[in-house]
Amino acid sequence: MARRRLLLLGGTAEAYRLARELEHDPRVDCLSSLAGRTADPALPAGRYRIGGFGGVAGLVDFLRQEGIDRVLDATHPFAAQMARHAAEACAALTIPRAKLWRPAWVPTPGDRWLPVPSIPAAADFLRTHPAKRIFMTLGRKELAPFIDMTDKWFLTRTVDPPPALPPGQLILARGPFQPEAEKRLMQANGIDLLVTKNSGGAAAKLAAAAELHIPVLMVERPAPPEGPLLAAISDALAWARGA
Ligand code: NAP
Repeated sequence: MARRRLLLLGGTAEAYRLARELEHDPRVDCLSSLAGRTADPALPAGRYRIGGFGGVAGLVDFLRQEGIDRVLDATHPFAAQMARHAAEACAALTIPRAKLWRPAWVPTPGDRWLPVPSIPAAADFLRTHPAKRIFMTLGRKELAPFIDMTDKWFLTRTVDPPPALPPGQLILARGPFQPEAEKRLMQANGIDLLVTKNSGGAAAKLAAAAELHIPVLMVERPAPPEGPLLAAISDALAWARGA
């Protein structure tokens, strides 16, 4: 039987794990795709490509040229544009597609969350909030709305240097992080508010913030694309391998 040709849209811990699991699978020929956002990305196991496709039309061409017959979208829950493009391109070619949608974080007793629907809303909220020392963990290209907040001090953490930085200090680091180290970092810098997207997955910074009674400005997720959502890696593997 011919091997399935799977496009695995990645850039997440789950996608790396899926690529490793599928690398030697006799049923699936897996091609991973990275956007090419970070300067020195970890490379997935097996075959991979890097860079945008050129919108929906470019992705349609790519899927045709590569003879892809199934698309597993394992991009980050906030990668809404890629998810939409994948949905549209697969619908146009009637190729099955599913989205790995890792569960969102939910507040537990002791958490002090301030939910906001978007990053601009987070910036608006922050302007009138009394917090002065903020642990900023949004992505490096999401910081522009905060750079003129000169009455606040930001400890900003990104993987690569941001094009523009809010006032304060920059840490370049790639997760995963440990709750104890996150707690020490927040204490050492006198942090009184954490800003994050509701990415889901490992939550060391949230555990540390809860322990220190630090409020969390939580940017809620965009809506998922229509169609099948897979919550667990085991579900995604079964879908990738399925008939
Ligand atoms: P996005 O806004 O949804 O996508 C913007 C454009 O980047 C897409 O239209 C596509 O370009 C290209 N692209 C995105 N993901 C791609 C992939 N896996 N392979 C090839 N091209 C891709 O995405 P984003 O939020 O900037 O995220 C970019 C990548 O970083 C994603 O792969 C995502 O999994 C990863 N990531 C994102 C976040 C986050 O918070 N957004 C966090 C961690 C990791 P074309 O239109 O030219 O095809």
